[in-house]
Amino acid sequence: KKAKAGNERLVFYDQHMTESVAEALALENKLRRALERDEFVLHYQPKVNIATRRIVALEALIRWNSPGEGLVPPMKFIPLMEETGLILEVGAWALRQAALDHQRWVQRGGTAPRLAVNVSAVQLRKPDFVATVQAALACGAEPHGIDIEITESLIMEDIEATIGKLHALRARGVELAIDDFGTGYSSLAYLARLPAQILKIDRAFVKTMLDEPNSLLLVSTMVSLAHSLRMTVVAEGVETEAQASQLLQLGCDQMQGYLVSRPLPFDEVTALFGR
Ligand code: C2E
Ligand code: MG
Ligand code: MG
Ligand code: MG
Repeated sequence: KKAKAGNERLVFYDQHMTESVAEALALENKLRRALERDEFVLHYQPKVNIATRRIVALEALIRWNSPGEGLVPPMKFIPLMEETGLILEVGAWALRQAALDHQRWVQRGGTAPRLAVNVSAVQLRKPDFVATVQAALACGAEPHGIDIEITESLIMEDIEATIGKLHALRARGVELAIDDFGTGYSSLAYLARLPAQILKIDRAFVKTMLDEPNSLLLVSTMVSLAHSLRMTVVAEGVETEAQASQLLQLGCDQMQGYLVSRPLPFDEVTALFGR
């Protein structure tokens, strides 16, 4: 019952349901306070090799651990943060936290998988983006194991400047994943120019793939495209064994999704890959 009350409250925070400027301002103030009080947390979702099911990397996904509302998902606050610029501070925090968590794993002496952090276009657009990422990496262990994910539709805004920044990060050992691929409007020419190593197929395609022949064809085409560009392909949102075996058959390399694991807090994910 508590969860339900929480969910009803959450609806209130949806950007599109925010009815007044006053409401948006109130949320913005709450989010600023949350940052001061250190209420944001990173959960981690494994990326596994589809054939072996071994964990090859983890993706950091931010949540707001609100004393009043419980765990608030990113879609309830990231859009407003992008509008207000608060994403710059929170994004830098997420990068630093991921670097620190990675260092904790290195220090335990066990496996320390690479961590991918989602980055907003608002962050990417800033001239000091590369310096911000570098400063965050400096908080962690050496060699660092931090990668970034950028949503396809957002990369294409300022392509020349973006390519320059991504090359600078690449030179510092940061891998780049194109997130939510297939939902944006990128040209293939740009895709070929981006220094990206990983392509993530949006979960909308995975979801419909087994029922809609056109969707299956698109997934198959995206896998071939990625491989021709020498990229690793990751399928997002895999929920069933049937989807996993179809993806394996198509030659997809890795997957993420509830079939393997939901995003988990640090300790729980440590137990998962520590096994
Ligand atoms: P994303 O990067 O595409 O992350 C995948 C989303 O799909 C996550 O939602 C994840 O929990 C969810 N997901 C994973 N497996 C499954 C599945 O099998 N079924 C279904 N239905 N969903 C699945 P989440 O954590 O709510 O994050 C939503 C989005 O918020 C992310 O999409 C990303 O774009 C953004 N985001 C998350 N953390 C950050 C962050 O630190 N910074 C920025 N700028 N954006 C973030
Ligand atoms: Mg992502
Ligand atoms: Mg995605
Ligand atoms: Mg997505």
